[in-house]
Amino acid sequence: MKPQLLQIFQKSYRELRPRAPLPELKVEFYPYAGVNHTIRMRNGRLLVRLSDLIEGAPENVLAALAHILLSKIYRKPIEAGHSSRYRRYVGGKDFAAKAQMIRQSRGRKRMRAPQGHVYDLEAIFDDLNARYFHGLLGRPRLTWSHNIARRRLGHFDPAHNTIVVSRVFDDVRMPKFAVEYLLYHEMLHLKHPVRLRGSRRCVHSAEFVAEERRFPQFEQAKRLLRGL
Ligand SMILES: [Zn+2]
Repeated sequence: MKPQLLQIFQKSYRELRPRAPLPELKVEFYPYAGVNHTIRMRNGRLLVRLSDLIEGAPENVLAALAHILLSKIYRKPIEAGHSSRYRRYVGGKDFAAKAQMIRQSRGRKRMRAPQGHVYDLEAIFDDLNARYFHGLLGRPRLTWSHNIARRRLGHFDPAHNTIVVSRVFDDVRMPKFAVEYLLYHEMLHLKHPVRLRGSRRCVHSAEFVAEERRFPQFEQAKRLLRGL
């Protein structure tokens, strides 16, 4: 751990809770699949894991992130200045390029942008999330499949926290409800993780199936997908 990083968190803690004693802090970088960070309290110790994609970020960005994470765990309001500074950094071009480089050097799957030629998976995800999940699903990485895979139209990969959608759907001739249905199905996988029932893997549980039927054009979409 860089002593500097620890100092940033200590300083932020002091600002947030000037009268509370400083707990023992451990801050480390961790190779999360996405730009994730975690903070938790264990036996009086505050454990912070930052995505290693953020390593090398300027000090004021790390300070903003420290403020955000500490505010979150102590249920304090997050200052707008900090949250916008952090978002500007992770939303910037330099960061995207660096993240891409790190992912490639790790030999991860080659990732494609969620924005296709016709459909934007992120926009569709956000819309479905608001409509059917009260906005409660954390957005995973969304990507179009590298090659046009007709056998596998979509899948959720929990190890990489990624939903992959076949490029077949990124087509003007493809109705939007078909893309929505496919993504909705994969979002249900996100909501209902695969469980072991006895020794049997239960991928589409009864709740999963019931919830899937709530999609308005369910039958229509099923028929269309069968024809692909
Ligand atoms: Zn499925």
